[in-house]
Amino acid sequence: MSTERIYLDHNATTPVDPRVLEVMLPYFIEIFGNAASDHIYGLEAKRAVDKAREQIATAINARPDEIIFTSGATESDNIALFGIAERYADKGDHIITCVTEHKAVLDCCRRLEQMGKQVTYLPVDQYGLVDPDDVRKAITPQTILISIMTANNEIGTIAPVQEIGAIAKEHNILFHTDAAQAVGHIPMDVQSLHIDAMSLSAHKIYGPKGIGALYRRRSNPRVLLEPRIYGGGHERGIRSGTLNVPGIVGFGEAVQIAQWEMNEAASKYRAWTQQMYQQLQEKIEGVQLNGHPTQRLPHNLNVSIQGVDAKTLVMHLKDIAISTGSACTATSPGPSHVILALGFGEKRADSAIRIGVGRSNDDQAIEFSTRHIIQLGLELRQLIRT
Ligand SMILES: *Cc1c(COP(=O)(O)O)cnc(C)c1O
Repeated sequence: MSTERIYLDHNATTPVDPRVLEVMLPYFIEIFGNAASDHIYGLEAKRAVDKAREQIATAINARPDEIIFTSGATESDNIALFGIAERYADKGDHIITCVTEHKAVLDCCRRLEQMGKQVTYLPVDQYGLVDPDDVRKAITPQTILISIMTANNEIGTIAPVQEIGAIAKEHNILFHTDAAQAVGHIPMDVQSLHIDAMSLSAHKIYGPKGIGALYRRRSNPRVLLEPRIYGGGHERGIRSGTLNVPGIVGFGEAVQIAQWEMNEAASKYRAWTQQMYQQLQEKIEGVQLNGHPTQRLPHNLNVSIQGVDAKTLVMHLKDIAISTGSACTATSPGPSHVILALGFGEKRADSAIRIGVGRSNDDQAIEFSTRHIIQLGLELRQLIRT
């Protein structure tokens, strides 16, 4: 056990589930056709793509023709934000988002500002929650889009998506949500949540990397998008390029398995993360939970250990893989923009660790890791004191 590596970073990415890989394999060599070709090879590929489209649509209560395949949630966010900003430019130039969004949304917004658009970045409370009243107050006659993520990738906080969706609908404003951390982990229904556009990713739910989707509502209202990639008119003209058939097949299967196993997985993961949090709190003084105590992803735990530098802790854990902040921002140094937004200062952000449990873990791995994190946490703090 002690020489094995333990992966506790399932919010950054997940391994491909062997059941997913198995359904993908025939699509590399045997059924390799281009889904846009008219002959039998193409039709076989198209049939597989259609099935995956159906699997994904069913999971989120959408129609298959509302699913646009992309290279991942980053691209989906780009298509949604730039596509709507450009297509609805004659209606308005104002977008509402939130300070704790993923960089895939924030960087798009920064670029849109450079292009002359107006962006409101709403604050969050100490738990990472956006107040729907703040959303309402930020609306102007120029507002064309509200983009608020469903579940935060660092602290796991789940936003009041339904309330925000209802406000958007009431004001005839489009509502986009980045649900890369949500689909397959918590129930998502684009109808009851009033979602007009939604970003999905396969590799956060045991599917392959490099494949994702954008849900785009086609009626009531019909969401129009200016493409970001031209060339052939695939995916209803919104995302040209030969379809990644094996990836799409794997994505469909991954979503379906995640839906089937959602409840069981959620209770197991919730028990693990709660157990870890409890033991950390019991054994180490000054452990603080980052994010909401109940409105959170079951498989995510983010805590700050007072007086312990998270980078040092993560480095010394060696064979136990946890994260400081988010992997997606690992290239940009400095404290996490998400933890800072909670308003507790830089010290707390510098000592924040993210633990993401998942299918590659078992009870023993959780117990073993918890013991080690506690032990190392205590040792590091001792070093600072002496
Ligand atoms: C992982 C993630 C992304 C990026 O998804 P890719 O498929 O890797 O491009 C975007 N948003 C959130 C919330 C994520 O967790």
